[in-house]
Amino acid sequence: MMIEHHQHFIGGKLVESHSAGRIEVIDPATEQVIGTIADGDARDIAAAVGAAEAAAPAWAAKSAAERATVLRAIADAFEARMDEISALVTRQNGTPISIARAMQSQVPVVYRYFADLADVFEPEELVETASGDAIVRREPVGVVGAIIPWNGPQPLTAWKLGPALAAGCTVVIKPAQETSLDAFLFAEILTEADVPDGVVNIVTGGRETGAALVADQGVRKIAFTGSTRAGRAIAAECAAQLKRVTLELGGKSAGILLDDVDLDEFRPLVLSACSPNTGQTCRALTRVLVPSSRHDEIVEMLEETLRSIPQGDPSDPVNLFGPLVNALQRERVESYIALGRAEGATVVLGGGRPEGLERGYYVEPTIFTDVTNDMRIAREEIFGPVLVVMSYETVDEAVAIANDSEYGLGGGVFSSDREKATEVARRIVSGSVGINTSTLPIETPFGGVKNSGMGRELGPQALDAYLEYKTLFRAK
Ligand code: NAD
Repeated sequence: MMIEHHQHFIGGKLVESHSAGRIEVIDPATEQVIGTIADGDARDIAAAVGAAEAAAPAWAAKSAAERATVLRAIADAFEARMDEISALVTRQNGTPISIARAMQSQVPVVYRYFADLADVFEPEELVETASGDAIVRREPVGVVGAIIPWNGPQPLTAWKLGPALAAGCTVVIKPAQETSLDAFLFAEILTEADVPDGVVNIVTGGRETGAALVADQGVRKIAFTGSTRAGRAIAAECAAQLKRVTLELGGKSAGILLDDVDLDEFRPLVLSACSPNTGQTCRALTRVLVPSSRHDEIVEMLEETLRSIPQGDPSDPVNLFGPLVNALQRERVESYIALGRAEGATVVLGGGRPEGLERGYYVEPTIFTDVTNDMRIAREEIFGPVLVVMSYETVDEAVAIANDSEYGLGGGVFSSDREKATEVARRIVSGSVGINTSTLPIETPFGGVKNSGMGRELGPQALDAYLEYKTLFRAK
C-alpha cells in the first residue's frame, strides 16, 4: 500500500505543501516505490519557521522542569509506537529490523536523559565581582533547524530535539528524503505528547529544502548530521549569516587491535563496531589496524565472522546485513570496491553482489587486505559494508596511521590490557574512542574533529549548543 504525505507538520497541524514537487520513497529491499512525500520549498520552510518563532516565547518562558515533563511525554508516546516506527524505518532505508528496533529503543532513553538534565538546569548564576555582582543567564538560542540523514532518522532527531527542547528552543526538522514517512508517525507522537503547537515542526523535502532552512533568517542555529560535503555548504551559509551551527559529518575511523587482543572478546563486537547498519554508520571502524605478527589470524577471524552473518530481507529479524539505502549508494560503494582492486588491494571476502538477492540494493560484506593508508579506499568514507585491513609493526606506527586521516569522528582500541589500550586511545585524534567496546554512552559528548565536523551532541555538553549566555551587571 502506498503511503502518501503531501503535507508538512506546522504549528501542530498537517498543512498542505505550497510546493507541487513530490519525491518517491523507495523500499531498498524490493526497489518498489512505497510512498511519496512533498518536496517542500522556501515557502513551506518560512511557514514552519514562522510557527516556531510564534511558539518560542511561551516555550522559553516555561521552567526547564515543565519542559522536562513534555520530553518525558514524548519518550512515553514514542515507546508505545516503537515497533511501528522500526518497521517503517526498515522499509525506507533497509536497516535490518533487529538493528532498527535496537536503534529505536535508544530514542526514549535519549529524551528522558535530556528531561533529567532539564530538571536540574539552573538558568541563572550569580557572580560576585569587585565592582558589583552579575547575573549570568543561559537563554535558548531561538529557532533551531535540525537537518537529519537517513541512516538513523529517529535517534539522530532525538539527539538534536532532546537538548533543543530542554534548553527552551523551538525547532524545525527537515528529515532526509529517503526517511520522511516515519517523521509523520513522529508528528503523531508529538501530538499525543501534547507538545505545544509550533514547538516542533517538520518540513519534508530534499537538499534544496534543507538549504532553504539553513538560509531562513529566522533560524538562529543549525544542527546537522550528514555528509562532509553538505556540512561544508551549510557551514558556509551559517558563516555568512553568523548563525550558530553544529555539524556531525563523516568518518573513516580506525580500530586498532593491539598484539594482546583476545579474539574471542573481539569477535562479538565485529558487526557493531566495524560494520553496523550494513556499514552505513558514521562512526564505524572501517580501517582495521592489526599487528603484523597476528595479521593472518585476525583476517581469518574477520572473514569467518562477517561471512557467518546472514544477509537478506531486512524485515526478517534473522538478517543482520541488509541492502544499502538506495541505488546511488550501491553504485558508490561498488565503485570504491573496483577502485580498491585497481589500487592493488586484495579482496579476501565479498566484493560483489550476494547470490540469490537479485532484487534490492545489496552488496556483499567486503574485506580488503594489502591496503596502505595512502590508497583512496583507506582515506575516503565508503559508507557501506567494506573494511580495509592494514598491518602495523609498532604501536607508534598504528597511532600514526590512525591519525593520518582527514577525519576524526570515532575510533577503537582493543586489548586484554585496559590501561594500555587507554594510553593508546589518548593518542588518537578523534572526538571519541571506544576501548574494548562498540557502545556509545549517551551521557558523554559525541562529535568529530577535522572533516568529521564541529560541536558535540549528547552528554550535558549538548545543551551548550542550544544556549546563549547573557550577563546582567549590577552596580553595588
Ligand atoms: P547528505 O549529507 O547529502 O544529506 C543529509 C541531509 O542533509 C538530508 O536531509 C539532505 O536533504 C540534507 N542536505 C543535503 N545537502 C544539503 C545542503 N546543501 N543544505 C542543507 N541540507 C542539505 O547525505 P546523503 O546524500 O544522504 O548521503 C551521502 C553521503 O553522506 C553518504 O555516502 C555518507 O558518506 C554521508 N552520510 C553521513 C552520515 C552521518 O551519519 N554522518 C549520514 C548519512 C550520510
